Amino acid sequence: MTHTPPSSTSTSQPVPSQRQWNIRQVLLGLVMGCLLPGVIFTFAMFVREYLLVRNQLTDNLITTARAMVQTVDSQLFRALDTVHAVASYPGFTDVDPEDFYNWVSVITNRSEIGMNMVLSDRQGRQVINTLIAPDDMPELIDDPALVAPVLMSAEPAITPVFIGSLLQRPLLTASVPVIKNDEVIYSLGIGILPESFNPIIDAQDFPDSWIVGIFDNTGTIVARSLQPEVYVGQKGTADYISSINSALEGITVSTTREGIPVTSVWSRSPDTNWSVGIGIPTGQLEAELRRSMSIIGSLILLFLVIAVILAWRAAKLISDSVRQLNAPAEALGRGESVQIPPLGIAESAQIAAALQNAAGLMQRRETELKQARASYLESLEQTVSERTQALQLANEKLEQLALTDVITGLNNRNAANIRLRQQFLSYKRSGLAYVVLFLDVDHFKLVNDKFGHETGDQVLRQLGNILLASVRGNDFVARFGGEEFLALLENCSAQDALKVAENIRMSVAAHHFPLVNDVTVSIGLAMVKADDNSEEEAVRRADKALYQAKADGRDCVRLGV
Ligand code: GH3
Ligand code: MG
Ligand code: MG
Repeated sequence: MTHTPPSSTSTSQPVPSQRQWNIRQVLLGLVMGCLLPGVIFTFAMFVREYLLVRNQLTDNLITTARAMVQTVDSQLFRALDTVHAVASYPGFTDVDPEDFYNWVSVITNRSEIGMNMVLSDRQGRQVINTLIAPDDMPELIDDPALVAPVLMSAEPAITPVFIGSLLQRPLLTASVPVIKNDEVIYSLGIGILPESFNPIIDAQDFPDSWIVGIFDNTGTIVARSLQPEVYVGQKGTADYISSINSALEGITVSTTREGIPVTSVWSRSPDTNWSVGIGIPTGQLEAELRRSMSIIGSLILLFLVIAVILAWRAAKLISDSVRQLNAPAEALGRGESVQIPPLGIAESAQIAAALQNAAGLMQRRETELKQARASYLESLEQTVSERTQALQLANEKLEQLALTDVITGLNNRNAANIRLRQQFLSYKRSGLAYVVLFLDVDHFKLVNDKFGHETGDQVLRQLGNILLASVRGNDFVARFGGEEFLALLENCSAQDALKVAENIRMSVAAHHFPLVNDVTVSIGLAMVKADDNSEEEAVRRADKALYQAKADGRDCVRLGV
């Protein structure tokens, strides 16, 4: 089975299929193409700027933390200095508590540091505690772990935060050994309340949401900006402790003890291993980014919307002004006058003006064409009518020629036959009788023979004239053949016809024919009859009568019956 392709009736060329874009899509594409790289670049620049600012911030914070750690160190060292000064007390061999109290108060008043002084013996028993009057001194044994480092190493030491046995609250001690004869006999410590480090944090005036902590060399919280009453004395988070142990300074992302995710910077003292940590809630850092991003995003979105609206309106303006050219173009195609609507685009207005010009030109051409066609038609009509007239004349001439005898100018035999038929029919119809007259020139052969055919023709012409002059205006005369003539005498009796014939005969006889002189004619007459079946019968009778005239000696008239 074969398939024949459907035949196309369209005469237009096949148009290769191509994706078509409308002006709106093109302009929107243009706007997006121009704006999107800018938008992406702006966002990228903003993120870069944000990261730079954040790095700057964390760098600054590390510097701050370092300064804070130095302040902590100096506070600790001042405490140790104070203890050293107290340890220079000369009466340790046999301590007089009152005298020692005075010594301590002189020195601590000067240094304004620490809360109390504790003198512990090698067993950790508190011998003197300046918070308690000498007489009321109870039996207090410190944790051996706290005094051991000083007693064992004979070096100054700072304890971690611990719960004081007398006050039952967190505190720490900076201690020095009291040496006698190269032997450590006491440990002398100054009690320091963790709150005494709070001013170091407060002095920085950090935002309330930031979590700032001072940690001792074991990672225990000594001071804290948030809920110190809960967390002082507790260890920092394991993440934080491992971070500060890994480097002296750094930045880490961790979670505080309360469970707040923070980006933390820390600085640890290489001398005391105490550290300061500053934690900024991660959400807050990102909130800043998010806020800036949303402002920039909103602005960009606003620009984008404005750009899209402008592009949309521009596209509408262009496409409207292009579309408005449809009607003028179609009007041009139909050959109508082109109406140009107000157009917002100069190029469209130019095309519209061109269309209008074209329409004007077309109308002018059409008018010229119409005029040319009209004048052509007029001349054609004139030519046709002239030709028709000429043709009619020619036809008439031809007709005349067909019915006219060339020698005499009388009707010829054709015309005679036609008239005979008409006359007979008319007689049959209206009863209007007529007479057929047959005339034959006597001995005409002799005329020709004697004077030549030309002279014979002139005789025939003159006979025709005589014949015409002898009958009535509406009677019919024809040269029937050779030298024979036929006349139809209308509305005529046999008597009248005889008179007319006789008159003709006599006129001929009396006429002077140049050269020839005498010419006579014989005439046969016949009346149409009611019982005639055709026009021929009267003609035959007239012919017979003519023969009779010839027979009777010529130059006479005979009536057939
Ligand atoms: P009749 O008296 O018996 O009629 O004798 P006729 O000589 O007239 O008769 P015939 O029939 O013998 O001769 C007729 C002559 O008419 C013969 C011819 O030369 C002449 N004739 C016929 N037609 C024409 C014509 O058109 N022109 C001329 N010049 N002569 C013609
Ligand atoms: Mg004859
Ligand atoms: Mg004759």
